[in-house]
Amino acid sequence: MKFDRLRLNGFKSFVDPTDLVIREGLTGVVGPNGCGKSNLLEALRWVMGENRPSAMRGGGMEDVIFAGTSRRGARAHAEVMLTIDNRERLAPATVNEADGIDIVRRITRDAGSAYKINGKEARARDVQMLFADASTGAHSPALVRQGQISELINAKPKARRRILEEAAGISGLYARRHEAELK
Ligand code: ATP
Ligand code: MG
Repeated sequence: MKFDRLRLNGFKSFVDPTDLVIREGLTGVVGPNGCGKSNLLEALRWVMGENRPSAMRGGGMEDVIFAGTSRRGARAHAEVMLTIDNRERLAPATVNEADGIDIVRRITRDAGSAYKINGKEARARDVQMLFADASTGAHSPALVRQGQISELINAKPKARRRILEEAAGISGLYARRHEAELK
């Protein structure tokens, strides 16, 4: 699954609309401490359906909304759009007729998150499953947080197994089994 573009608006320090174009090959993001490099990776994880505030370095989910500075007021919502190249038709059947897939997540204070896939309203689960089936997503081992390497080394065997299962591409099946057991 190839990511083409990440668009942030009101997300953490990215108060103004910001486009990150992800071209073929390696993309590097450089800048001084605190300029927002980790926030970019968090935006990517968030738009893929991350729901743990701890993974976003916040106390609550609304902490991803631009909180304001001495010169600029806080924002009422945050939005991230991820555009995926689907020319190889790797996406699930429901959205697979399109060359590109736009996934949008928007959070509004006191109103929670809403998702859209190619303009159509979707559930968090739809977005999470889209990525789980492609063996990626918010919990993908391909996204390595600062400090995560030492966490990995200290992980208990069960936690380490989950990481291997993600790498083996079977976590989508896991999520479905869990859903089946709940029914
Ligand atoms: P380092 O090189 O130290 O890892 P970094 O480039 O990864 O730095 P980030 O951690 O992405 O930097 O950015 C941190 C900045 O984002 C801080 O200045 C912090 O104040 C700002 N920030 C985080 N959440 C919000 C928010 N909700 N509203 C406004 N600014 C925020
Ligand atoms: Mg950082």
